[in-house]
This record gives sequence, C-alpha cells and structure tokens, in this order.
Amino acid sequence: MNTLKRNVSVFSKNYGLIAIIEKTDTLAYGEHEPFSVPLALCDSCQGKAQLQKQIQEPIRWLVACKGCGKKANQAQKRPWQAALKWNEINLGTQDYKALLLFGLSNASTDDARHKMSGIRRNLELRKNLAGIERTIAGHTNKKAPGKQYQQKLDAYLQWSILALRLIKSSKIKSMKELRQNKGSEGAILKT
Ligand SMILES: [Zn+2]
Repeated sequence: MNTLKRNVSVFSKNYGLIAIIEKTDTLAYGEHEPFSVPLALCDSCQGKAQLQKQIQEPIRWLVACKGCGKKANQAQKRPWQAALKWNEINLGTQDYKALLLFGLSNASTDDARHKMSGIRRNLELRKNLAGIERTIAGHTNKKAPGKQYQQKLDAYLQWSILALRLIKSSKIKSMKELRQNKGSEGAILKT
C-alpha cells in the first residue's frame, strides 16, 4: 500500500502553534473512488436496493429495497451519502473484509478495528483542518481547500464509520458463534 505521510503545523494568530497533524495521503485509503458506493443487498429480504431521486425541491436521494420496500430513514443531499446510509442499516449482508477501501481483506477484527480507529481519527482531524484553512482563507488571501476536497474527506470519513460498524458486527457474530460452540460442547459432555 502506498502511504505518504507528512506533518502539517496549524498556527493560530492568537495562540501560536495549535496542532501538528499527520497528513496521510488519500492513496493510503485505497484507490477506489469514495463517491462510488456499491449498494449492499437488503439484509431483511436479501433483495436488491435501488437509489431513488426525490422529485420535489430541493433534490434529495434515498435508497430503498426493491423487494420489501425497506428504506433508509433520511433522504440525503448526494447519491453517495444515500448509498452509505443504506449500507449502514444493512450490515448483515456485508463483510468488512470485502470493503473496496482501506485494504482490510486479511485483517483480523482486532487489527481492522485498530487500523480503522486511527484512520477515522485522522480523517476527522483533516476535515477540521480543511475547515480551519477555509476560515483562514476567508480572512486572508490564502487559497482555501476546494469544496470537492472537503467532500472527498467526508466521503472517506463516512466509509470509515461504515467499516467500524461492520468490524463491530463481525466481532459480535464470532463471539456468538463461540458461545454457541461452547454451549454444544457442554451438551455433549453432559450426555
Ligand atoms: Zn428488502
């Protein structure tokens, strides 16, 4: 994996140096375009989901299941946001190891969680930093980070939140299986 890291110092006029943030190049998250979000199958009926554009103004997007009609509970401004919201409520048909970002295919749940907590923290800092830079640019003639850049950071952040939820649900599932196996061993011993 291609990881490029550099430190960025954040200065405030009144407080001096306020933070040193490790900036990780977006390549570290994987090469998949974060705005492109494949829809998970519905985990209530295994049906296919569909992205719907709501007709009234302002335009909003919502994903619904073509089989049982299950919907994400809130329409979103952008298609990728609607898709990620849908995926977040259908964890049962997904596996964190198959996510198109972050390279988790061989990671254990503990390793994946450790890695993703770090990435999530880093993305939150970068998002805040971009906000600070935009504010500073508003007061000076410095160039502000583009809206597209900020949106991309936000998309990566939402993906990282989905990844963390999938990791958690996988951990819960394997703990349940372990308990069940122990239970059946107990039953064998008793007979
Ligand atoms: Zn369904």
